[in-house]
Amino acid sequence: MISDQPQNAPHDRAPCPPDRGRTGPARPAVLAVRAGNLFDGRRALGPGTVLTEGRRITAVDTSGSMPPAHAEVVDLGAGAWLLPGLIDTHVHLCFDAQDDVAGRLPDTDDTTLLTAMRAAARTAVHAGVTTVRDLGDRNYLSLALARDIAAHPGTGPHIVASGPPLTVPGGHCHFLGGEARGADAVRAAVRERHARGCSVVKVMASGGVMTPGSAAHLSQYGPRELRAAVEEAHRLGLPAVAHVHGGQAVVDAVDAGFDGIEHVTFMTVDGVAADAGAIHKIVRSGVFVGTTVGQRPGARPLSTGAAARRSGIREVRRRLLSAGARMTAGSDAGIAPDKPHNVLPHGIEALVGIGMTPVEALRAATSEAAIACRAQDRKGMLAPGRDADLLAVGPGLLTDITALRDVRAVFREGIRVR
Ligand SMILES: [Zn+2]
Repeated sequence: MISDQPQNAPHDRAPCPPDRGRTGPARPAVLAVRAGNLFDGRRALGPGTVLTEGRRITAVDTSGSMPPAHAEVVDLGAGAWLLPGLIDTHVHLCFDAQDDVAGRLPDTDDTTLLTAMRAAARTAVHAGVTTVRDLGDRNYLSLALARDIAAHPGTGPHIVASGPPLTVPGGHCHFLGGEARGADAVRAAVRERHARGCSVVKVMASGGVMTPGSAAHLSQYGPRELRAAVEEAHRLGLPAVAHVHGGQAVVDAVDAGFDGIEHVTFMTVDGVAADAGAIHKIVRSGVFVGTTVGQRPGARPLSTGAAARRSGIREVRRRLLSAGARMTAGSDAGIAPDKPHNVLPHGIEALVGIGMTPVEALRAATSEAAIACRAQDRKGMLAPGRDADLLAVGPGLLTDITALRDVRAVFREGIRVR
C-alpha cells in the first residue's frame, strides 16, 4: 500500500551516519574527488577538487590546496571531467523500454511493476543520471520508489514525480489512470496529486503517439481545462507541465501559463509544421521546452511515423533554439527500445546536433534542468550546500560531447555507485 506521506517534504539538514546502500559501498564521512577538469553546471573551472561531507558538497576548490588529512581521496586523473550528475527532465520509470509498453502494462501488477521501476532507476543512475523527473506513472508508484531511493540513495536517482498524467477519458495514456474531463474534475485531480505528495502536475494537452486510437496532432483539452489545471497547481505551489504535439495544443498550453511544455513537435496529421508566431510566443513566455531528445542508435523507435517525422522535429528544435527558447534535456526514457533508461547522454549529443555548444547542452542537463524541476537548491551545480551527486567522464568533454558516455565514476549523495 502506498502511503500519503509527501516526498517533497523539506530536506533534512541533520548530519547523517554512513549510509550503506542496498548495492554499493558505504558513504565516507569526508570525500575529496579530484579531477583535471571541473564543469560546475554553468562553466568550466579548470582542475580542482570537490569536497563532500555526508550527503552534500562542502567546497569546490580550484586553488590546488591539499584535501583535509581525514578525507577519503578519489583522484580521477588529469584528463577526466567532473560535473554535477545529469538531470533527465522527462522519463517514465514504469515503462521498460521494450516493445509495446502500453499494451503490456495492464497485464503487469503493481509489485512486478515496482520491481521493474527499481531496475530502470538503477540503469539511469549507472549512466550518471542522478535526478529524473518522472512525468507519468501508474498508481503513484514513482512516489513509493522515490521514498525508497531517498532512504537508499545509492540505488537510484532522486525522483521528481507527477503521478498519473491528467488525460481525457480514453485519451493519451488513459491506461495510467489519470482520466479527468471538465475543469472541476481537472482541479480535483490536481488536488489529489498535491495531497499524495507529487512535485509537479502533468497534463496531456494533446493526443500522443504511443496510445492506440489517440491522434497526437489533435488537442485533448480546451483552454478552460488547461487554465484550471495551471491555476490549481500554482495555488498549491506546484509547477505544471503539458504534453503537447499539435500546434493548437502548444499555443493553448503557453496561453494557459504552463511552466513547461514537453515534446513541442508541432505535428500535423501527416508531418510537422511550426508557425513563427507560435515559436515567438514560446520564447516570449519564458516557458521551459522539454525536448524529449535522444535515441540509442540502431534500436527500434516507438513507431515508423515517429521516425519519419524525426528530421522535421529536429528542424523545429533548431528554430526554437535559434529563436532563444529555454530548452532542457529530457529523453522520454522508457517508452520504446530506442529510449532505454540510460539514453540521456545521446539526448545531450542531439542538442549539440541542433546547434547548442557543448556547454549549453550540459547546462540543459544540469543547472537549467534543475531550475525546470524546481530542484535548483539541491541539484544541478557543483557548489557548497548542493547534494553530492557527481558524474566523472573521460577526456575532451567540451570538444567531443560523446565523452559523456565514457563514465569513470558516479556518486549519489556522496555514495559511489560506479
Ligand atoms: Zn512522456
